[in-house]
Amino acid sequence: MMTALTTPRPTLSRMHAPTLHTLPSAVAANVERMRLATHARLMAVVKADGYGLGSVPVALAAIGAGAEWLGVTDAKDAAELRDAGVEVPILAWLNPAGVDVAQVIADRVDVAVGSVDELRQLIADASSLPDGRVRVHLHMDTGMSRGGVRLEDWAELLRTARSGRGRIEVVGVMGHLPDADAADPAINAPAVLRTCQARDAVLRAGFGPLIVHLAATSGTLTDPATHFDMVRVGAGLVGIDPSETVSLQGAALLTASVVHSSTVPARTPVGYGGAYVTEGMTRLSVIGVGYADGIPRELALGAAVAIDGIRCPIVGRVSMDQIVVDTGDLTVPRGATAVVFGPEGGAVPSVQEWARWAGSIPHTVVTGIGPRVERAIA
Ligand SMILES: *Cc1c(COP(=O)(O)O)cnc(C)c1O
Repeated sequence: MMTALTTPRPTLSRMHAPTLHTLPSAVAANVERMRLATHARLMAVVKADGYGLGSVPVALAAIGAGAEWLGVTDAKDAAELRDAGVEVPILAWLNPAGVDVAQVIADRVDVAVGSVDELRQLIADASSLPDGRVRVHLHMDTGMSRGGVRLEDWAELLRTARSGRGRIEVVGVMGHLPDADAADPAINAPAVLRTCQARDAVLRAGFGPLIVHLAATSGTLTDPATHFDMVRVGAGLVGIDPSETVSLQGAALLTASVVHSSTVPARTPVGYGGAYVTEGMTRLSVIGVGYADGIPRELALGAAVAIDGIRCPIVGRVSMDQIVVDTGDLTVPRGATAVVFGPEGGAVPSVQEWARWAGSIPHTVVTGIGPRVERAIA
């Protein structure tokens, strides 16, 4: 849950719990940057609690900067957004076990269906309602085999949709690009073609008008042919461009306190197993954040945090609740703030650097921050 407004400070005089700060101004700047890349409407995808940064603050910042739709996976996630006063349309696309039809109508949630079975179930459920129709987006499998109806089954999907008229209303067609981070329009071309085929078949079946959407962040930034009527951007909101072609602003800032500092002689083992041994005399600081908070345990050499504008390497193994850093000549008082990651620039490591150190992608760094880490909005 988000707590009261907090301004992150480089150094605090007293101890504070590890805190993940969401930077709404960065989200807004990223939305503005992505809107420059497209004429289509922009859906802000706030699944996985807004990529770990809070679905409500990320959504509000995105809407403030011109996002016209919101996207979530589970239809239940829409309730929190409606409670926060969000009025824009919301689409939920991952409900293989079905949805509470009364609830989605009450919350004004559009539902994407990714199989003929799902659509049959939805129509059956909607038939039990006294009135109201469920707004549906038909999800085409554009090459991921992860969700969506294959082109071969599209005719049956449309027959089913026709049988549900009056219970459901087909308002959209969606796909998802399997390889957009390659930033190569030729690679997206087959998915674009299938999306066109799916759209045309739906129109021929007598449905429409339709809103057609395919691209996520990478497609938005690299391939206008994928934009159709709307783009669905998630990673880009929080400053992650999977195509690595555009530099967006990091919207996450993770801080923690130095809980102990000491000066140690050469050849001092650090952490479990003495996996690291100091070379010369140096200063060490223990920081109160560990793998239970989402700090990856397998880190490459070079992993670091920033203290007082200086990059301090992490030494020894990451523990459950603690890491140790070598501060060299810097004397660090207990209670000083360490910045684990933040917007790019200066000594502060970026989420992208953490992903490289962890052998992963930036998405896992931001979504992996644990529940006991406090949340704040900067
Ligand atoms: C997560 C997701 C998105 C957003 O993707 P990003 O690369 O994070 O922008 C869009 N569409 C679907 C179906 C998704 O699951």
